[in-house]
Amino acid sequence: MKKYKIKGGTILLEKGAFLVPAETDIFVSDGKIEAVGDVRDETGYEVLDAKGLFVIPGLVNMHTHAYMSFMRGCADDLPFDEWLFRRVMPIEDKMTGEDAYWSTLFGCMEMISTGTTTLTDMHMFKGDVPRAVRDAGMRAFIGRGLVGEDLEKDGASRFREAMEEMTEYKSDTIDFLLAPHSVYTCSERMLRQIDEKAKELSLRKEIHLAESLKEYDDCMKAHGKTPVRYLADLGFLDEKTILAHCVRLEKEDYSLLKSSCAHVVTNPASNAKLGNGAADFEMLYGQGVRICLGTDGAASNNTQNLFREMNFLSLLHKARNCSPTAASAQAVLRLATANAAEALGKKIGRIEAGCLADLVFLDKNAISLMPANDLASALVYSANGSEVDSVMINGAFVFRKKEFTTIDRDRVLYEVARIAKKYL
Ligand SMILES: [Zn+2]
Repeated sequence: MKKYKIKGGTILLEKGAFLVPAETDIFVSDGKIEAVGDVRDETGYEVLDAKGLFVIPGLVNMHTHAYMSFMRGCADDLPFDEWLFRRVMPIEDKMTGEDAYWSTLFGCMEMISTGTTTLTDMHMFKGDVPRAVRDAGMRAFIGRGLVGEDLEKDGASRFREAMEEMTEYKSDTIDFLLAPHSVYTCSERMLRQIDEKAKELSLRKEIHLAESLKEYDDCMKAHGKTPVRYLADLGFLDEKTILAHCVRLEKEDYSLLKSSCAHVVTNPASNAKLGNGAADFEMLYGQGVRICLGTDGAASNNTQNLFREMNFLSLLHKARNCSPTAASAQAVLRLATANAAEALGKKIGRIEAGCLADLVFLDKNAISLMPANDLASALVYSANGSEVDSVMINGAFVFRKKEFTTIDRDRVLYEVARIAKKYL
């Protein structure tokens, strides 16, 4: 593996409670950040001139469905049920594994070129999604979606697929988690079984939770409890649990989330676009709930660009609270970096010795960033992702000077156009 000295860049570093820029060098070897500053012996390092670049930790998209990437624009401005049951699901039913492969690669292209280095993905195409993520060279936590009444009966084949792809594709950069789809598509028995399996196999779990009013009302009717209380009572919530959405919460839910140490992924654009509302970021943040950020799939968000998501999150909550101090740039940047690292238990999301070398290089002279008087606020309020010049994942470049090194861009675009024509 190549060793790099990244020389003279302006690096976004953690200084106490703040993320601040500093001009310094980064030494990368063996897929890791060996040092920030200097090393004892500089022989054997390829020197990269980073003078015109900002270097930030790779962003982490904590909730998406990359296989849906070609569905961008397939069902916009529609009520949730029509969107899901009459548009999205009929396409999914007809999709092949090969379609999912190309669509996932396409999603990886969008994420990489806008500074995302890690994704947490829930999918339904055994092997095809991890194969695409591996070919793209991204870091990921992947879960085959699980639905049903009983893990040993109707849920058995999906669980077997989850185990099989884990055996085949687990690597330095690809991890797996268990992904029960939701409290309305998995029975209580099934959720208990998945929780047991996760503990037995030392895996994380990811589930959609409290996304819509209908889910909330149905859960109250069926169990007499909020979705969060329902999962808490099952013993499902712990520090290895990742909860996507959490829009519909009651006061007590915040303390349950905090005391369980579960991680909430907020997906502001998807929730807003589907008319599901907005998670109460200020309450979550103020109550000390662990929060990170995701885009959700392209069928509901239309983009998997975390710069857009960070910007929208911050502005949405300033507007919602009539408060310019809500969702500060510093807090939002952490959601997409260090907080996500904590949720995944990975040494990513920071530029410091010992962390994995997932780095994003942005053009300092990009019009949208000039003049970056305050780098954190430039990244959240001004950047749109087009400033990304290069991306390194696990010490290797997957995107260099705006060219993909792992993906055949033209082939993927051709395949995606072909697939879209077939279904849309
Ligand atoms: Zn989702």
